[in-house]
Amino acid sequence: MRDRKRGTVRDLRRENRAAVLWSLYLSQPRSRQELSAATGLSSASVTNVVRELIDEGIVVETGLEESDGGRPRAILEMNPEYGYVIGVDVGETRTRVELFDLTMTERAKVEYPLDRAVEHDVTVVVEQIVSGVNAVIADSGVGSGAILGVGIGLPGIVERGPEVLVHGQTYGWDAVPIWRMLRARTGLPLRFDNGANTMGQAEVWFGAGRGARNAVVVLVGSGLGAALISGGATYQGATSSAAEFGHITVAVGGRKCRCGSVGCLEAYAGAEAILERYGRPMTTNDQEGALAELIGAASTSPLAAAILDETATYLGAGIGTMINLFNPDKVVLGGWAGLLLGGPLLPQIRESARQHSLRHPFAATSIELGRLGPGAVALGAATLPMESFLNGSWAGGGPRAQPRDGG
Ligand SMILES: [Zn+2]
Repeated sequence: MRDRKRGTVRDLRRENRAAVLWSLYLSQPRSRQELSAATGLSSASVTNVVRELIDEGIVVETGLEESDGGRPRAILEMNPEYGYVIGVDVGETRTRVELFDLTMTERAKVEYPLDRAVEHDVTVVVEQIVSGVNAVIADSGVGSGAILGVGIGLPGIVERGPEVLVHGQTYGWDAVPIWRMLRARTGLPLRFDNGANTMGQAEVWFGAGRGARNAVVVLVGSGLGAALISGGATYQGATSSAAEFGHITVAVGGRKCRCGSVGCLEAYAGAEAILERYGRPMTTNDQEGALAELIGAASTSPLAAAILDETATYLGAGIGTMINLFNPDKVVLGGWAGLLLGGPLLPQIRESARQHSLRHPFAATSIELGRLGPGAVALGAATLPMESFLNGSWAGGGPRAQPRDGG
């Protein structure tokens, strides 16, 4: 009985601490009074938690602000130097690795192009991740002991069972044991998710989806993916393959898809399929340049204009289906190709989504471009180890203590 009571008190302290940390992390700077209002905790509880966090060096007072008639209030922020997180975006055209401090300010970044000629050989990707992690730690000059963890956004289905397996049907990854392969090369804590999911988390925490409780975040790159945010959290499904948006059927008996089926949305709206229809099949890594060129040619080339029209129609139809099925309050379009296409095509995409969805759910949502740029996948990946930190998996142990990793 007594033990249970003690456990409850400890749990409560931990919950209060996590509430204050999350609140400060997602909207800093804040005063103690604002933290109290945002978390619903008493000012005494907030004062206690903040004292503890300042003593540990996680939170710092950075100044004073005037308050109406009362004493000036101290402004609190996360201490950027306390610890660092690394985000990795394994895309189909490049691997991007970025190191962030505790305020999510980027401190170092490297990118490696992926040559499609070697077809995403997993050993090449693992090598790039390991080199990238070592490079950003060296470039930023922080000790590896200050790294809270590495989050990795991967293309394909990321199954987080007893071990982390990746199923990338469109490019030949069949149950790749990514965690085991990386664990052999680094001692840092590792977290994994699908790249569309990490982008979704970044856009909902810091970008165009901020504040949305139910959002669909669409990633358009070589292929297509999406994250479903339900009640503020990413919906995973039974085996983490929820929102394989690229493979919904938009044309029965339509174009052949990379997955082996026909008529998938990806066969119309993915960059690879767009370039193929333009007579520029891209097997190398210059898809980004080629798509920009196609978009630039639309004013003079009827073929380019027709392909972009068709792309906007299909993408909008796909989004309309998501609106009907999921009733989101926000749809965010991102990914390198999504941002390129969305610039000129967003009004057409919206119109197609309106035509292909029911009036009521369409009226309840908005369709917007992502605000975090093509780096959103890596930023979102870096939030994966940050989640563990904010929830207290590191509590008391400082950045050197490592939690159970792998998922
Ligand atoms: Zn498909």
